[in-house]
Amino acid sequence: MHILVTNDDGVYAPGLLALAQTLRKIGKVSILAPDQNWSASGHVKTMHRPLRVKQVVLADGSQALASDGAPSDCVALALLGLIEEKIDLVVSGINPNANIGHDVTYSGTVTAAMEAVINGIPGIAVSLDSPENHHAHLDYQPAANLASQITHHVLQKPLPTGVLLNVNVPYLPLDKIKGIKITRQGLRVYRDSLDKRVDPRGRPYYWIGGEAPTAIPEEGTDYGAIYAGYVSITPLQLDLTAWNVISELESRNWA
Ligand code: MN
Repeated sequence: MHILVTNDDGVYAPGLLALAQTLRKIGKVSILAPDQNWSASGHVKTMHRPLRVKQVVLADGSQALASDGAPSDCVALALLGLIEEKIDLVVSGINPNANIGHDVTYSGTVTAAMEAVINGIPGIAVSLDSPENHHAHLDYQPAANLASQITHHVLQKPLPTGVLLNVNVPYLPLDKIKGIKITRQGLRVYRDSLDKRVDPRGRPYYWIGGEAPTAIPEEGTDYGAIYAGYVSITPLQLDLTAWNVISELESRNWA
């Protein structure tokens, strides 16, 4: 089995290295990831400039490809033929922060997995719910082991067409993780605020800042699971249709 590993934190991120090293135990791994941090870049298709790809060497001496495109560009490049050998599955991560609720629309980690699904192969996004303001070295190994277990499962028992998995892992040692829960998207609580400043020439500029987001730990949701010490697997699809309002909208007189 041939697995493409990518991420949104950049090809040299430690989460990618831990993931790639662990997935090598279950299949052949190729790496094509962005050459810089694209976190919170959403689903990107670069169409108005060329994309460059270069060969790089990771900290363990392994070879990887790095592109100046977004995570979703990396997946498209690989699946459209830049990597010649057929790819069976894309695994994206390991992102150092959880991707829960509405995060999935911002997340480069998750949108890379969406790009896999658009190209007809399964995608798995893996994120670690590391503690806020955690500046020390993060241990990605428990999440890498779980990602490998889930990837192995998907290779054995394929996902329905059009479905990707959004996996979030609590920041706990393996023996403290209680198990795996299949979840739905929960609710993130964003606490963004606009920080307006003035540059040396008197012109205003803006930062979208504020406190880090929180979330509601409702049972059955992605955050509810990781909050309770479980791995969360949320199946996602790209059909964003609001099915529950179709008949009400149809009944309106739009003329
Ligand atoms: Mn990221």
